[in-house]
Amino acid sequence: MLKRNVSSISLDQREVTRLRVLEHIRTKGAISRIDIASELQTSPATVTAATADLISAGMIKETESDGTARASKRGRPRVLLQLDGNFSLVAGLKVARHQISVLLVDFAGAEITSFEHPLTNPCMDPHTFTETVRKSVEGACASIGRSIDDMAGISIGIAGLVDAERNFVHWSSSLTDRNVDFGPLLSGHLPCPAFVENDTNLIAKAEQLFGLGKELKNFLVITVEHGVGMGIVLDGKLHRGERGCGAEFGHTKVQLEGALCQCGQRGCLEAYVGDYALIREANIAGHGNEVQSVADVYANAKSGDARSVSVLDRAGKMFAMGVSNLINLFDPELIILSGAQMKFDYLSSPEVMTRIRQGVADVDAPLPEIKVHHWGDTLFTKGAAAYGIEQVSILKVKELASHAD
Ligand SMILES: [Zn+2]
Repeated sequence: MLKRNVSSISLDQREVTRLRVLEHIRTKGAISRIDIASELQTSPATVTAATADLISAGMIKETESDGTARASKRGRPRVLLQLDGNFSLVAGLKVARHQISVLLVDFAGAEITSFEHPLTNPCMDPHTFTETVRKSVEGACASIGRSIDDMAGISIGIAGLVDAERNFVHWSSSLTDRNVDFGPLLSGHLPCPAFVENDTNLIAKAEQLFGLGKELKNFLVITVEHGVGMGIVLDGKLHRGERGCGAEFGHTKVQLEGALCQCGQRGCLEAYVGDYALIREANIAGHGNEVQSVADVYANAKSGDARSVSVLDRAGKMFAMGVSNLINLFDPELIILSGAQMKFDYLSSPEVMTRIRQGVADVDAPLPEIKVHHWGDTLFTKGAAAYGIEQVSILKVKELASHAD
C-alpha cells in the first residue's frame, strides 16, 4: 500500500525513508532508534536523520521506556519513539443511504469522537454531496469544540467504482452523475486535503491494520449491504486494478439476462443479494404488507412465510456461487464477510458453506477460512480514518523541510 502512494505521489529517497520510519513506528507503537534501524535493515545514521526530521515536524516524540527490563546495560532508561497524536486531526467518513458517519481521530489513530449526519436524499448531485460532506465534518468538529479548519485531512468512503489515486468516481449509487472528478470540487469546498475511496477498500484497509487481516498476505473482504462490495489484498497490498475498479464482486454476472441491477446492467450478483434486491423480490409477491427492510424479510422468513424463505434461499445460493468463484480465482488465505446483512445468518448458514465448498475446484488441501466479522458502520469510518492518516502522513512527509544536513 505504501508503495502505491509512494509511486503515485513520487517521493524522493529521503522522503521514502522518513515515511518507512514513520509507518514502522506506527506499527510498533513505541520503539528505539536502534531497533528501527535493525528491523528496517538500514543504518543507524539514516534512522537518526529521519527521526530528527519527524521530531522537528512534530509527527513523533521521544518517550522513556519504563521498567528496568528494557533499560540499557548502563541502567539508563532507553529512549523510545512514538507518534505524537497532537500532530493532526483527521476525519474518516462513510457515506451510507440514510446518514454520513464521521469518525475524528488524532494522528496516532486515537478515536476522538463519532458523529452522524442524517441524509434526506441518498442520491445527490456532486455539488450537494460535497457540501453535505463539509456539513458532516463541521458537525463532528463542533461537537468537540473544534473547527473544520483544524482538520489535516478528510477521507471519504463511498460505494461504487472509485479511482482513489485520482479522487475520481466512475459511478456510485450515492451520486446522480457518472464520472465525477472530485479533486477540484473537494479542494474548492474544504479547507484541507480530502481523499475519496471505495468503501469496501477501506474495510479491507481496516481489517489489514487492526482486524482479522493482520499479518495476512492474501485475503478478501466481502461486504453485503445495499450493494455488494469487495476489497482484495494480494501480497499485502490492496489490489485496485488499472482503472481503480477491479474488485466489483457485486457486478459479476451470475445470470444471463437476469435481474436488473442498480448499475443498469442485468444479472449482477448484487441484484440478487443486495438489500434493495431482497426487498424488491419480497414485494413482487405482493403480501398486502410491503416489506421495508431486510430485517422485515428475515423476520417473515423466520415466522415461516414461504415466499420470504424462498427470497433468502435464492440469495444464499447466488452468494455461494459467487464466493466459490472467488476462491477459484484468488485462492486466498481468508475470506471475511462483513456489512450490515451479516447480522442475519442466511448468507453464512451451513447450507451456504456447503454450497461454497461444492463450487470450489477440488484439491486435497483445506479451503480458505471464511469468517463473519461484525463491525457495523464503525468499521467503515475506522478504515476511512486509517486511510486518511496514511495519506496525510505522505503529504506531510513531502512538505517537511529537511533537517539540517
Ligand atoms: Zn450491477
